[in-house]
Amino acid sequence: DAYLRGERERPHAAGGVVDVRALPPYRADDPGIVLWQGDITRLRADAIVNAANDAMLGCFRPNHHCIDNAIHTFAGIQLRAECAAVMDRLGRTARTGEPIVTGGWNLPADHVIHVTGPIVDGPLTDAHRKALADCYRNCLAAADARGLRSVAFCSISTGVFGFPIDQAAPIAVATVRAFLRERRPDHPHMTVVFDVFSDHDRSIYEQALHRPVRA
Ligand code: ADP
Repeated sequence: DAYLRGERERPHAAGGVVDVRALPPYRADDPGIVLWQGDITRLRADAIVNAANDAMLGCFRPNHHCIDNAIHTFAGIQLRAECAAVMDRLGRTARTGEPIVTGGWNLPADHVIHVTGPIVDGPLTDAHRKALADCYRNCLAAADARGLRSVAFCSISTGVFGFPIDQAAPIAVATVRAFLRERRPDHPHMTVVFDVFSDHDRSIYEQALHRPVRA
């Protein structure tokens, strides 16, 4: 049908596909950073980031509302096959913060950067904070190495993995800002989207983004 021939956008994506290059920056003095609320599988970007687990094969729990399931569902079975091939070559599970880059298959995004965030199942420690910052840095470095110019992040680790989002958002924002500041002279056109899902998460990210750009 028209969908399979690529003449029509994916029918599940209520609200349609959103091209991140058309989204304005959140702040004029913080160019390159966008805040967007909605389902990440709708985004047309060079890459979207999947909060995966260390097996990197998607989520196998039926009807589980994690981002891993959403991405694998709408990317199609080809994504799981590509992940399996990558993991076969790796020969081990992925380390926390170690990104794996695949195609986007049936998604509007060209690539998916899969990364496993830290699991917080006790008190939050500096090791958790550092591991989360590494996720953002390593994903951006992987995108940069492939010449990708727009990356949409979900809020890594703040769902099932238990990282409090009010603690995670300032780390995400500060790490991305630092990366863009370092790279911007070479790559002035890199755009990073913070994709939030709920109204609550949106207000947390707004607070983080209102902090001074050079904290
Ligand atoms: P983790 O295991 O790293 O905690 P989760 O999938 O449980 O990953 O959640 C990560 C974040 O992604 C949460 O903030 C969650 O609300 C958000 N999220 C879940 N589904 C989607 C989606 N389809 N699009 C964007 N964000 C999503």
